[in-house]
Amino acid sequence: MKVFKFGGASIKDASRFNDSGALIGLHSTEKLVVIVSAMGKTTNALEKVVDAFTSGQKETALMEFDVLKKSHLSLCEELLDKELASTKIKLNEVFTEVEWLLHDQAVRNYDYYYDQIVCVGELMSTIIMNGLLMEKGYSSAWLDVRDVLRTDNQFRNAGVDWEQSSKLITDAANKLHSNKQILITQGFIGATDENESTTLGREGSDYTAAIFANVLNAESVTIWKDVESIMNADPKEFDDAVSIPKLSFTEVIEMAYYGAQVIHPKTIKPLQNKGIPLLVKSFLDPSLEGSRIDATVVKSLPPIIVRKKNQVLLKFTSRDFSFLEDETISWLQSKFSAHRVNPNVSQKTAISLLCCVDDKPERLEALCLEAGEIFDVEMERNLVLLTVRHYDPAKLKQLIGNGISILEQKTPETIQVLMRC
Ligand code: ASP
Ligand code: MG
Repeated sequence: MKVFKFGGASIKDASRFNDSGALIGLHSTEKLVVIVSAMGKTTNALEKVVDAFTSGQKETALMEFDVLKKSHLSLCEELLDKELASTKIKLNEVFTEVEWLLHDQAVRNYDYYYDQIVCVGELMSTIIMNGLLMEKGYSSAWLDVRDVLRTDNQFRNAGVDWEQSSKLITDAANKLHSNKQILITQGFIGATDENESTTLGREGSDYTAAIFANVLNAESVTIWKDVESIMNADPKEFDDAVSIPKLSFTEVIEMAYYGAQVIHPKTIKPLQNKGIPLLVKSFLDPSLEGSRIDATVVKSLPPIIVRKKNQVLLKFTSRDFSFLEDETISWLQSKFSAHRVNPNVSQKTAISLLCCVDDKPERLEALCLEAGEIFDVEMERNLVLLTVRHYDPAKLKQLIGNGISILEQKTPETIQVLMRC
């Protein structure tokens, strides 16, 4: 059994839906679990619905949701014929779930509503994909992942209950695979014991694929993307970016940690624990080799480059010039977690703590205000954080260019340079 994952770009319109459907069909000579995320930019559009609803603009929320409904329905018209009526019925059930909620008054917090609303993106796309596969004559079954992926109630960043989920996923897969070749389900979403919908964090569908693969002991996971493979740098920014055909699990964890937008960071562990290889392939040209990630250590990798823009340097200096004691630092760290600010790099000096963070203005303002009780806080915006793994001095010099380095940290494998550009 293999697990496939299709992201938003692979189903962004009717023609991509058709191509991805054909690709799934082609591989359905063996049992497949197919994890699908929401179409194109649907998740972003649903976030707007949440914003409108939670700020009391019910009409706007309903109107924006209606746009999504219509686009999904017209896609069905384009793709389906004999499966059209039954697919529309299933979609309408999902629409009702959201509209019922949107007609209500918001009484719970933002994150709760976010998950109840945003989860429909994946429900809609998978219902259509299942309809399409049946239309094409493939043996496919649809599963509402919220019936099998149990999570806690930390909305927008839910933690998976592995024990319960393992049992539920195994039972459901055994049952559905006993008479169907393809099992289609949603990435990114789950549900609590109380049947409240949850989400696993943006771009979380890769993680769902890894969870299913782990639980069902899949032979491999393939993530189908619109890039040919994992590259050593973002090809949109670097003309000379190259493909990396083989990588180790550890390397990918490091890359994700430093902010390379390759694969959702939580994806690797469930695969590594069971030694299940992860393949990254292009749905635009499946004949290309792509990348294979497994436990094998790969020597002589090219320099792997991550450039994060919109970075902020925060400098916390103790007011009375006293040394930073552990206690003061833990106090400051608790403020960082309370405001959900994660330092990308931090460095301690005798009386200051320097932290490079993403620019999330509201969170930073709240953090600095509270930290201001004990520290003088300075802030510098619009910086770039360059991370290079497997660096060599010449390449590094070229990457820094005219940038002025204001903070550096390095290990034998990795260098990070925060700079003004
Ligand atoms: N649809 C979700 C998102 O856009 C999950 C995913 O794509 O993996 O974040
Ligand atoms: Mg996506």
